[in-house]
Amino acid sequence: AGAAAGPRRRCGMEPAGEAEEPPGFPALPVEEPQDGQPLEPPPGEAALPAVTGRERCRRGAGAQGPGVRAARGKGRWAPCRRGGEEGGRAARRPRVTVDSSKAKTSLEALKISLRQLRWREFPFGRRLPCDIYWHGVSFHDNDIFSGQVNKFPGMTEMVRKITLSRAVRTMQDLFPLEYNFYPRSWILPEEFPLFVDEVRMMKDSDPSWKPTFIVKPDGGCQGDGIYLIKDPSDIRLTGSIQSRPAVVQEYICKPLLVDKLKFDIRLYVLLKSLEPLEIYIAKDGLSRFCTEPYQEPTLKNLHQVFMHLTNYSLNIHSGNFIHSDSVNTGSKRTFSSILCRLSSRGADVKKLWSDIISLVIKTIIALTPELKVYYQSDIPAGKPGPTCFQILGFDILLMKNLKPMLLEVNANPSMRIEHEQELSPGVFENVPSPVDEEVKVAVIRDTLRLVDPQKKKRKDISPIIFKNSERQRKESYKANIRYNYFVCCRCQTLESVSEGKEEALETGPGEGEECEGSRGPEAGLPSLCLKQVFPKYAKQFNYLRVVDRVAALFIRFLGVKGTTKLGPTGFRTFIRNCKLSNSNFSMAAVDILYIDITRRWNSMGIDHKESGMCLQAFVEAFFCLAQKKYKSLPLHEQVASLIDFCEYHLAALDEKRLGCGRG
Ligand code: ADP
Repeated sequence: AGAAAGPRRRCGMEPAGEAEEPPGFPALPVEEPQDGQPLEPPPGEAALPAVTGRERCRRGAGAQGPGVRAARGKGRWAPCRRGGEEGGRAARRPRVTVDSSKAKTSLEALKISLRQLRWREFPFGRRLPCDIYWHGVSFHDNDIFSGQVNKFPGMTEMVRKITLSRAVRTMQDLFPLEYNFYPRSWILPEEFPLFVDEVRMMKDSDPSWKPTFIVKPDGGCQGDGIYLIKDPSDIRLTGSIQSRPAVVQEYICKPLLVDKLKFDIRLYVLLKSLEPLEIYIAKDGLSRFCTEPYQEPTLKNLHQVFMHLTNYSLNIHSGNFIHSDSVNTGSKRTFSSILCRLSSRGADVKKLWSDIISLVIKTIIALTPELKVYYQSDIPAGKPGPTCFQILGFDILLMKNLKPMLLEVNANPSMRIEHEQELSPGVFENVPSPVDEEVKVAVIRDTLRLVDPQKKKRKDISPIIFKNSERQRKESYKANIRYNYFVCCRCQTLESVSEGKEEALETGPGEGEECEGSRGPEAGLPSLCLKQVFPKYAKQFNYLRVVDRVAALFIRFLGVKGTTKLGPTGFRTFIRNCKLSNSNFSMAAVDILYIDITRRWNSMGIDHKESGMCLQAFVEAFFCLAQKKYKSLPLHEQVASLIDFCEYHLAALDEKRLGCGRG
């Protein structure tokens, strides 16, 4: 069965893929001299709204030869002294500073965004602190002690296939119905026997069930090493699978097809803050298409990657791949164009969008407990450090019945806005990709607008918050239509399909979300393409955040700052302080529980750097204790009851200590 997926790619010459940016991907050289001066648009363009990438392309970046470099060339945006009202105003206002020296392949989209915002870019870094550090790969790309970084510590580890599957599974154990948007998965090699047993049992109970499974190596991206199987015995257990862990997942056999082709959706999600939790979703994303007409998997077609895998990086090598300048044709389109098409066929796209919002919020709720552990370890409370935000790429597959299913989350979604074209054999050129540019520049620019450190200051000065009223939005569209026609059309399309007033989660402007419309420092910019979904919908989802509360207990007992694992003494203190030990559960039994669970989790080989009990092991121990103490309840109620019990005793202890302190 199934052959390894995909042709080989040229190292360091990746096209604009949608997968994670591989760690260590080299940044393109930047040719501007660093003289500490901001990059300014040329005088003639100062009064115009910020220039878009599309205009930049039209004005000749493409004609200037191998793509992006020409656009970044010395003569393009020479630093200039400007007169005029706009320049005067800008000069009075201190401008946001951004260190782009580690931006790697997102550099080009970032540069366009910064020009649109008229912020100061430091492409080679800066001796003084910057307001924002834009990293291409991870939080740890730089030593930073202030400002904001566009990555959370631990995010890359959290969204690896195995870690994500584990985090979602914990939530599936607690809330099976709420988390049925993730295919049933098993972790290899350790769960291979379980996989075999469960499949056999399901086949026995339903002989008509003819499943297909997809095997994905952990940490892989762009379809690397993925293959399909019909039976557990087809797994390649020899050699690499032992040394390279993987996830095996139920294959979704009946995806929604457009033009007879399978496609998936890449949605951009901004995690603006972990505490308090703030989530935004981009109103538009990308749809990546297969290049062979889809057929349900059979032994004969299992190996046909162009039929079953939607990865851009694979399908680009198919002779059928269609590059298109239009957002609604070709092998890569905007998601809004798909929604329009579905809507015209009578599909309930409002419900679909609401389901997608729900999927995103629930997935992030599954990730936050462990992210908080990483966060306190890298940025301990009370020590100087930056705050973080991050753009995530959600890969979603729509089933035939329009149910969205989560495939994976990317910590470093590709932000490249150009793709390679082979001019003649072996000669490649980077050419702008309009679809990528439409979506990605808006996401980066609006992320920056949302984390703008000066926005808060401005808010404090001006009591007026311009709400994004219908009239204002229209004004804003008109003002921008000349330079950003597609963005406006897309926003309107999506808003008009999603602005349900009923129970569906709508995506209109969130409460407290501001749009400065055609006035203020963001004059001329389109309304935000990112819409707040949390805390906007907190009421509907807060009941799911139980593991967050377990993580808070775990963090409290970690003790030494900078660690992510709990030692045996910390675990004993937790048990003692929460009054969980009694005649039926002695401290000796506590030690045995600690050793058993910790040893098992550590033998799974996730992180050997530190010894002790990781959060997932603690969660398992906590569930165990909850089941013991509250036998008759469903699991989520057992866990919630035990949390209440622990929190009550800890609060009493704190109160007592406070009293002693005062005494
Ligand atoms: P990678 O990180 O290597 O891209 P993905 O999990 O995104 O790995 O899987 C690659 C592709 O395989 C997806 O884009 C999708 O087309 C297909 N795929 C992945 N999981 C499933 C699944 N459970 N059912 C159907 N297709 C899937």
